[in-house]
Amino acid sequence: MELNYCRRCGTQLKRTAQDIYACQNGHTIYANAAPASSLWIVNDTNEVLVAIRGREPGLGGFDAPGGFNDGAESFEDAIAREIKEELGLDPDDYTKPLYLLSAIDDYAFAGEEIKVLSPVYWSKLIGNPVITPSDDVAEARFIPISDLNPNDIFFDAPRAGFIALRDSGLYNK
Ligand SMILES: [Zn+2]
Repeated sequence: MELNYCRRCGTQLKRTAQDIYACQNGHTIYANAAPASSLWIVNDTNEVLVAIRGREPGLGGFDAPGGFNDGAESFEDAIAREIKEELGLDPDDYTKPLYLLSAIDDYAFAGEEIKVLSPVYWSKLIGNPVITPSDDVAEARFIPISDLNPNDIFFDAPRAGFIALRDSGLYNK
């Protein structure tokens, strides 16, 4: 990630290591990836809830619902907030999200490409709640796990998480 100016004093930064910068006033700035999390939700007929992306990057592509953490938010809190915002589901509409894996996604937006630290979780839908897509989800669709082609999933981390979930058979227990 390319950084130019110190966020503490505004002077120019020099790269001192791959992802570490320093300014002339001795401030060290770490160019960490931005955290974002996503959740694959499976219903009781082994279909997975796929979000159709309503904006760039990946407009029209398949995705897991989720998104960037706000400020100092935990992944658990970010998932609960994003699932509410994007689908209208409350935490008691799905089982406690279980961790699958994490990966780094490349996220290109407004002329900048950022690295995104992306843990992926899964859970089971509880009951038959009403799902109301909004925010950056244009449409929410249940697709049989066995029918979903991973290549249709736009981002690397949700794709890897889906494959891990599918191949584990965990959802079937
Ligand atoms: Zn500084």
